[in-house]
Amino acid sequence: MTDKLYYQNSHLFEFSAEIIDCIRREDRAYDVILDRTAFFPEGGGQRSDEGMIGGVQVLHVSEKEGIVFHRCEVPMEKGRRVDCRIERETRLRRMQNHSGEHVVSGLVHTRFGFDNVGFHMSDGFMTVDFSGELRNEEIVQLEQEANEIVRANVPVTAFFPSPDQLKALEYRSKLDLTQNVRLVRIEGCDLCACCAPHVSQTGEIGIIRIMDHMRHRGGTRITLTCGMDALEDCRRRQKNTVRISNLLSARQEDIADAVDRLLENMAAQKLRIAELSMANVEYLASGTDPVKGNICLVDRLLDEVALRELVNRLSEKCSGIAAALFPSGEGQWRYIIGSRNVDLRKNALLINRGINGKGGGSSMMIQGSCSGDVEQIRHFLTEIHLS
Ligand SMILES: [Zn+2]
Repeated sequence: MTDKLYYQNSHLFEFSAEIIDCIRREDRAYDVILDRTAFFPEGGGQRSDEGMIGGVQVLHVSEKEGIVFHRCEVPMEKGRRVDCRIERETRLRRMQNHSGEHVVSGLVHTRFGFDNVGFHMSDGFMTVDFSGELRNEEIVQLEQEANEIVRANVPVTAFFPSPDQLKALEYRSKLDLTQNVRLVRIEGCDLCACCAPHVSQTGEIGIIRIMDHMRHRGGTRITLTCGMDALEDCRRRQKNTVRISNLLSARQEDIADAVDRLLENMAAQKLRIAELSMANVEYLASGTDPVKGNICLVDRLLDEVALRELVNRLSEKCSGIAAALFPSGEGQWRYIIGSRNVDLRKNALLINRGINGKGGGSSMMIQGSCSGDVEQIRHFLTEIHLS
């Protein structure tokens, strides 16, 4: 059994140990076993610690039957004493996050009676699933109370109760364990079965931020970030705010209103463009004399709706087909073709073949895309005789 220093002291980042064994693994890596370790193996939703053993990088840490395995890329000599160092910043951030999660889950349990039914820790944030629905104002209240517990700076302790003691205690747990249960107590807030290292006092968590919440499988999923990760998230958001504020020439506290005004403006302009397009359609259609044969025009300004209307109007003025083309990319065109006299559905294949296109529609109107030299396409559509 490895002596698990991380259970006794969650703030031990440097220690020395003796190499008890070094086992070659199938994937050409090595599992190093120490007599004692402060490296936390993966568990309780928290990833394993990173760091160095005797100057060698630790890739992953796992535990099996009380023995902790440190996966390394190179073999290490049995019996050697080594200095070990845990990647401090990463571990501290994970503890801030994980302890913050216990505070929130403890509060949700006491206030609402909901259980934590899912927990995932990513880089920089966590997602926590609760068994019941939480309303917006309850989320705000929850975040407030969680941060009051941070401010109260209450002790966080871990202990292994005897089976009898355990029976008498009320605690949160996902599994029905009776042996070697480690409980983490946040004074006045939470008691939960957990194997991970935690902060010593809630003040160390720094800040608890609920970034988002949504309905999830009949309950609630929250996205949570704490401590230094929360500070970083705050900086990212601030950077965005400053950028938006500069782009809109609005004060930072007014950017939402400025975006509202911008969207209103855009909607009004869209309406104006549609009106102008229709006026242009009217102008183009009334200025075209009736012809025997086909009409084909290329337009870069009108939108698809206006062009369809134009084709409709022009098809009344020709005995053949009325076609409109507009660009959709380099050498790429969209087409709309209408006719009062020619069955377009029947002729679609022939037309598409002639303009290197694809598309279809009704007997009175087809549309699609084509590619190639626009003058050649125009020539084809103007000259083709269809019946
Ligand atoms: Zn936990």
